[in-house]
Amino acid sequence: MDNPVKNLNSIICEALKTYFRGIKKENQHIETDLGKIAAFSIAKAGENDLFKIFVKEHNSEEVDNLVSQLDKAISPQINCTDCGNCCKSLMVLISDSEADNLSDHLSQSRETFDKEYLEKGSNGLMIMNRMPCPFLSDNKCSVYEHRFEGCKEFPALHLPNFTRRLFTTFMHYDRCPIIFNVVEQLKDELGFEREV
Ligand code: SF4
Ligand code: SF4
Repeated sequence: MDNPVKNLNSIICEALKTYFRGIKKENQHIETDLGKIAAFSIAKAGENDLFKIFVKEHNSEEVDNLVSQLDKAISPQINCTDCGNCCKSLMVLISDSEADNLSDHLSQSRETFDKEYLEKGSNGLMIMNRMPCPFLSDNKCSVYEHRFEGCKEFPALHLPNFTRRLFTTFMHYDRCPIIFNVVEQLKDELGFEREV
């Protein structure tokens, strides 16, 4: 039979760990300087290659929980309108219904909308035909309520299987302050020994 005192101790212990982790996160420096993030990314290229191997050695669910907690703590501290980098470099897939929705909102026929904005592959996949996204205006999305699912999802740190999306996540490490800071704090949380 389970020892209730032992169980209570482990619950209190976990609660304290979460509490102190929260304090540590709140006190941690958040880097938002895009120039510094780009420079760190070059300096940390070797370190990050080692980290990608290191993180895969951990339990995937444990990593997802940490990434999700870090995302929740860090995202509200970053102002996306000071950045806008994802809308300058992200290739989101667009579905027919999303194209219908946005063309309706713009009072354009699908034919006109498709000609003006979409690139279509032979496999039926559709993406925007240029970057930065033409709907980006003063670092804000001018069609925010009608933006695509791929835009809403980015940087996708709330989704499961972080360790299976390392390639796409690290593609944006050098330009997305949310990804940069989450990854840097994840290194600390997992006890990764930094090189830089
Ligand atoms: S539709 Fe809006 S959110 Fe999506 S890439 Fe374009 S500007 Fe960014
Ligand atoms: S790249 Fe990251 S920080 Fe920059 S606007 Fe996109 S989600 Fe926000």
